[in-house]
Amino acid sequence: MAELSPMMKQYFEIKEKNKDSILFFRLGDFYEMFFDDAKLASRELDLTLTGRDCGQKERAPMCGVPFHSCESYIARLVQKGYKVAICEQTEDPAKAKGLVKRDIIRVITPGTVIESGMLDEGKNNFISSAFMANKKIGLSFCDISTGELFITEISGEDLQDQLQDQLISYNPREILIGGEIVNFKTLPNFIKEKLSASVEMLTDDEFGYSICLDAMKNQFKENDVNSIKDKKEMVSSVGALLSYLKVTQITGYERINTFEVYNENQYMNLDYNTRRNLELTRTMMNKEKKGSLIWLLDKTKTAMGKRLLRYWLEHPLLNIGTILNRQSAIADLVDDTVQRLEITESLIGIFDIERLMTKIVYGNANARELRSLCGAFENLPQIKNLISKFDSSLMRKLTEDIDPLEDIHQLIDTAIEEEPPFSVREGGLIKEGYNEELDAVRSDMNNSTSLLAQIELEQKEKTGIPKLKVGYNRVFGYYIEVTNSYKDKVPEEYIRKQTLTNCERYITQELKDLEGRILGAKDRSFGMEYAIFDEIRKVVANNLDRIEKTAKAIATLDVLTSLANVASDNNYTRPEVNQSSKIILKDSRHPVVEALLSGAPFVPNDVTLDNDSNRVAIITGPNMAGKSTYMRQVALIVLMAQMGSFVPASYAEIGVVDSIFTRVGASDDLASGQSTFMVEMNEVANIVKKATKNSLLILDEIGRGTSTYDGMSIARAVLEFVADKKKLGAKALFATHYHELTVMENLLDGVKNYNIAVKKRGDDITFLRRIIPGGADDSYGIEVAKLAGLPDWIIKRAKEILKELTSGKTDDKETFANISPHSSEDDMQLNLLDTASNAVTDKLKSVDVNTLTPIEAMNLLYELNNMI
Ligand code: ADP
Repeated sequence: MAELSPMMKQYFEIKEKNKDSILFFRLGDFYEMFFDDAKLASRELDLTLTGRDCGQKERAPMCGVPFHSCESYIARLVQKGYKVAICEQTEDPAKAKGLVKRDIIRVITPGTVIESGMLDEGKNNFISSAFMANKKIGLSFCDISTGELFITEISGEDLQDQLQDQLISYNPREILIGGEIVNFKTLPNFIKEKLSASVEMLTDDEFGYSICLDAMKNQFKENDVNSIKDKKEMVSSVGALLSYLKVTQITGYERINTFEVYNENQYMNLDYNTRRNLELTRTMMNKEKKGSLIWLLDKTKTAMGKRLLRYWLEHPLLNIGTILNRQSAIADLVDDTVQRLEITESLIGIFDIERLMTKIVYGNANARELRSLCGAFENLPQIKNLISKFDSSLMRKLTEDIDPLEDIHQLIDTAIEEEPPFSVREGGLIKEGYNEELDAVRSDMNNSTSLLAQIELEQKEKTGIPKLKVGYNRVFGYYIEVTNSYKDKVPEEYIRKQTLTNCERYITQELKDLEGRILGAKDRSFGMEYAIFDEIRKVVANNLDRIEKTAKAIATLDVLTSLANVASDNNYTRPEVNQSSKIILKDSRHPVVEALLSGAPFVPNDVTLDNDSNRVAIITGPNMAGKSTYMRQVALIVLMAQMGSFVPASYAEIGVVDSIFTRVGASDDLASGQSTFMVEMNEVANIVKKATKNSLLILDEIGRGTSTYDGMSIARAVLEFVADKKKLGAKALFATHYHELTVMENLLDGVKNYNIAVKKRGDDITFLRRIIPGGADDSYGIEVAKLAGLPDWIIKRAKEILKELTSGKTDDKETFANISPHSSEDDMQLNLLDTASNAVTDKLKSVDVNTLTPIEAMNLLYELNNMI
C-alpha cells in the first residue's frame, strides 16, 4: 500500500479520536470532509462529491463547505442528530514550518449548540443527563447557550414515568444516560418519538461519584457543591454532564457558574398527553403554534422573555406564595395602562443578553455583538425607573435586580465603532480617540498612504511620464505602473517585476521601504485593535454576574408585561388562588377558542368543583355542543392561574391542583401499532395510577372505543373509582354520551349532572353553548348528523330504527335483530307516497282557500287525509 500523504496522515490521526462525529477539516477557506464523512455529508447536504489525492491509488472521496457559511450546514447536520467535530488550523499557516498543526476545537452536538443561527430564539436548547442507582435518578438539564442548569432527584414509585414527565417538561435535544436507566426498555422509544432527542450512553466510570464531585468542585462555588454533595445520583448526573461539555466544548463552558435544584413539589405535574391535549405549545391537528395557549399568551418583546414565558407555561407552580407574587406584579401592570405601555415599548429591541453573554464569555463574540449588547443596555435606566414606582414585592425585587450597567454601556459605546465589520482581525473596530497609542499607529499608516500619493506625483514629474501610477497587489506589494508607450522613459533604478499586455510594473527601493512601513503599521494597528477589543470583551465577561442578573430580571419583566397585556386586552380577572381544593368560576371562557372565534361571541359558563359534593361533574349533551371546549377551558384556566396569570372569567377561585390529567379524543398514537381502544385504556390506566385527590381530571368519552355495553361498564367503573373518596376522590369533569350514567348522581356522593343546553325545533337543533344542571334529555345524534349533511334517506331510516329500538322492548340486541332491513318495497312505498302526495298537491292547488266556509275546509281536510 502506498504511503498516505502527510496531511492525510494528520487527518486520520484526528479522525481516529472522533469516530462518531462528522469531521470538518479546515483547509484554507474551506472545511473539507473525507471518505465516509464526505459520502454522508454530500448526501445529507446535497454537496458535490469530489476527490483528492491522498497518496494512494484511489483518490479520497471529498466534499466541502466554505468556512464563512459553515453554520447553516452544521445546523442541518446537527438537526438530523449528527455530531460535527470542528478541526481548525491551530497555527498561522504563514509561520508554519511544514504541515500546519491542526486540532479539534469543538464538537457540536444537538444539545451543545451556542450559535444563534442554529438555535430557536424562543426556546431553550437543553441537554439532559440522567443517572440511576439505588432506585434514585439524578437528573439535570442544562442550556449552555444561556448558562442555565436545573437539577433534581427522582425517587419513589414509577421512576420511568416520572423521568419521562420530567423530560417532557424540558424537552431536551440531547440526553446522556447511564446506570440503571438502561433497564427502562421502552425509554429509547419514548425519547425518539415524543422528544426527537438524541441519546448518548455514558459509562459507569463517567458517572463515577468522586470524578463527578471533582468536576462539580471545579465548576461551582464550594458552598453550592456542599449543598448537594450527599445526593450522589445528582452529583453523578451533573458531573458527567460537565465532563461531556468539557470534551465537546474544549473551552468556554465556564459560563455555567450556578445551578438551581428543584423538586417535584414545586411544579404541577403534566404528562405528555395532557400537554398535547391541552395544546399548550402547539395544536393537535396541525402541530402549529397558532391556536395554542402559548400563541395567545406570548406577547413578549425579547427572546429572553419568550423563553421564560415558555418555561412558566411548561412549569405551572404549586407554591401559592410564588403564584401570588407573580399575580401582584401583573396587577401592578394591569392597573396602570400608561406605565404598562411605556414599559412594553422600552422592552422592544432589547437583544438576547443571555445568549450574547455566552458568546462573550466563550471569547467568540465579535464587535457587532458587543454593539448589540450595548444597545440592549440603552433602555435599562429608563426601565428601572419605570418599574421602581410599583409596590408589589416582585416588582421591587426586579427594580433591585436591574443594574443600569451604565459603566459597561459607556465602555462599549466609547470604544467600539457604531457599525464594525464582521471580522475582528481586520481593523475598523475601535473608535478614534479611544486609545492614544492606536491613534498614533493609525496616523502613521494614514501618513504613509499620503506619502504614496506624494511619490506618484514626484515620479511623474521626475520621469515626465504623465500616466505613471502607483498601485498595489498581493503578490508584489506596491509598484509603479507605466504604459508601454512610455517604456523608454523609465529610469535606470526602476526594477521590472511584471509585464502585462499594455504596461510594465516596477518597484523601487523607496517604494519598498515605504511599503514596509505601511504594511507594518497596518498589521500593528489591526493587532492593537484586536487586543483592545479582546480586553473590552474580557471586561464585559468579568461582569457576567451583574449582567446575568439584569438579563433575568428583564426576562421576568417581559413575561409579566406580556401576561398583563393579554389580561387587559381580553378582559381577564385575577383569580383567588388558595389551598381550598375548590374550582369556582363565573362566566369563564376558553381563552384560545374565544380569541379565534369570529362572528358569534363566545358563551361564558360557570364551574363549580370542590372536594365535597361537587367532585365529579358528568357532562352530557350532543356532539358539537361544546363539551370538550368547556372541559379544556377549565383545565387551561387552572393552569394559567398556577402560572400566576390572570384568567378569562368574571370571577375565579382556584384551589391549587397538583396535576392535571386529560383523556380526550382520538390519539395520534396509531402509528405505534396500538388500536385506538388500547391507547385509550392505556391512558386511563396511567391516569388512575398517577392521579391523587388533589388532581384535576378531564375525561372525555371514556369507553367510546368499544361496544356499547363494554364501554358503558368501563365508563361507570372509572367514574365510581374517580368519585369514591376511599379510592381516588379527585375532581373530575366527565363527558359522556352514555346517558345511562346520569343515574350516578343519585347513587354516588359528590357526583353532579350537567348538560349543555340545545334548543330543538322540529328536526333542527341550535346549540346554546350554555352549561346547565341536570342530564341531557336526548343525545340528538340524528339531528347533529342532519346538520352535518347526511342524506335525507339515511336520516329518515335512522329515525325509524331508533323509534323501534326505543319502543319499550327490553333486549336491545333482539330488537335490533328484528328490525327488517330497508327493502325495495320500502322504495315502492316511497314512490306510492310520492304519488299520493302529488294527488294531494293537485287537489290543494285546485281550491281557492279564500272562498271556503269553515265546514268546507273541514271536509277538505278530511278528504286530503284520506288521500294519503
Ligand atoms: P363537543 O365536545 O360537545 O363535541 P366541542 O367542544 O368540540 O363540542 O365544540 C364544538 C365547537 O363549538 C367548538 O369548536 C367551538 O367553536 C364551539 N363552541 C364550543 N363552546 C362554545 C362556547 N361556549 N361559545 C361559543 N362557541 C363554542
